[in-house]
Amino acid sequence: MLPTIEEIAVKTIVSIDIDSPLKDAITTMASSNHRNIVVIEKLENNHKNFYLLTINDLIEYKLTNIDESISLKNLNLSKARILRKDLNILNVLNEVDSTDKHMVIVENDELIGILSYTDIINNIDPKILMKKQTIATLILQYKATTTFENTSTNHAIRLMKDNNSDSIIIIDEENQPIGIFTTKDFINLIYLNSDLSKPIGSYMTTPVYTLNEDSTVSEAIDFIRDKHFKRIVITNDENEVVGILTQKELLRIIYNKWIDFIKEEGNRISKINEELLTKTTKLEKKASMDFLTKLYNREKFNSFLDYEINKIKRYKEQYLSLLIVDIDYFKHVNDTHGHLVGDSVLQEIGKILSVCSRDSDIVARWGGEEFVVMLPQTNIDQAVLVAEKLRATVEKHKFDTVKHVTCSIGVSQFHKNEDKETLFKRTDKALYKAKNNGRNRVEMENMTIQN
Ligand code: GH3
Ligand code: MG
Ligand code: MG
Repeated sequence: MLPTIEEIAVKTIVSIDIDSPLKDAITTMASSNHRNIVVIEKLENNHKNFYLLTINDLIEYKLTNIDESISLKNLNLSKARILRKDLNILNVLNEVDSTDKHMVIVENDELIGILSYTDIINNIDPKILMKKQTIATLILQYKATTTFENTSTNHAIRLMKDNNSDSIIIIDEENQPIGIFTTKDFINLIYLNSDLSKPIGSYMTTPVYTLNEDSTVSEAIDFIRDKHFKRIVITNDENEVVGILTQKELLRIIYNKWIDFIKEEGNRISKINEELLTKTTKLEKKASMDFLTKLYNREKFNSFLDYEINKIKRYKEQYLSLLIVDIDYFKHVNDTHGHLVGDSVLQEIGKILSVCSRDSDIVARWGGEEFVVMLPQTNIDQAVLVAEKLRATVEKHKFDTVKHVTCSIGVSQFHKNEDKETLFKRTDKALYKAKNNGRNRVEMENMTIQN
């Protein structure tokens, strides 16, 4: 959920009437320690206009020597953009750009809060921020403005303004930071009417707290939080100033890290998902396969059969037949040649059944030396022909060690309204008949086919 702009706005606002002199605005800003002041113009119809006087405007006036007794209404201040309090920050982000540095929230002509573009950026969801990132990049500053302590304050302020930075680091000949001067200090200078031709060294704040460039982002966050700083002076191992990191910039870095993290995690998770899918598919295959013959196993065969039976029950005019194939005297094969040879016979017969059946037929190992074949769209007469072909192929096949093996096959056709169990029972009966009638035969329900 995105917060509304009212929730994130700064509500401790200082304001001043537009008829007041600039001097009063400076006094209010200095005493309240605010960098912005809202200038209110009361109109005759009881409505109001809102303007903003910022610290940057003050610098501008000072540099152009504007008389501080001038009335605010003669300063040509820029009108603040007015926002409704119930907008969410994304609505606002779509409307404004980084040139709207500050906005005011007004309800019934009363000032509720003040909001900066940075406030919006800092409160927005990182994923959304990612799309808007180019705008955020516009308002960044990395490079520190530096000067020496004997530089005149006037000149130092001009440097700040030219570099569009809100602080200046005072360094010695070895490039070591010895003090800092910010726009906030500047308000006090104007307020106290201090002599700006004096060197900046006499107004700077000392010492400067610095952070080594090798520090982590989280260390930087702790640093800013503990010291209530708006910016960090970054130094290298020689304690030379290498840059300045504003709170704003720091937040951007965190967001970027967050986004990278999300992306990485996303990639990692989709990789895991892919692997899982492959593994699951493999497992599913394994679970439905007979290990020795690589044919479907009993469970899988049953599920195919259930599916076909359901289909037949729904559509008329469809047939389904079932074969049970049992190897003749297989015990003898094992007893004579050993279990391993027996296994290879099972594998070879499995292959014969697969190769000789049609694509739409399902061949499976039912268990032991028994196989089943499901023949969809096949009536009993056609099924007997298929069974006969299978039987004959096994009979003719020359097996590796055993040479000759035969099989018996029971055949039956699915009767509507019966269930799977009775179908199997009837097929088994047919198989039993084939065995009884001499083996190496195909038998169907109550009908014998002679070889
Ligand atoms: P019939 O003609 O009546 O079917 O005689 P048979 O010997 O084939 O039938 P019986 O049921 O007496 O014996 C089946 C044999 O199949 C017994 C068992 O040891 C063997 N068998 C079952 N599963 C496997 C297997 O996975 N590998 C091997 N090598 N033998 C198996
Ligand atoms: Mg058997
Ligand atoms: Mg057998």
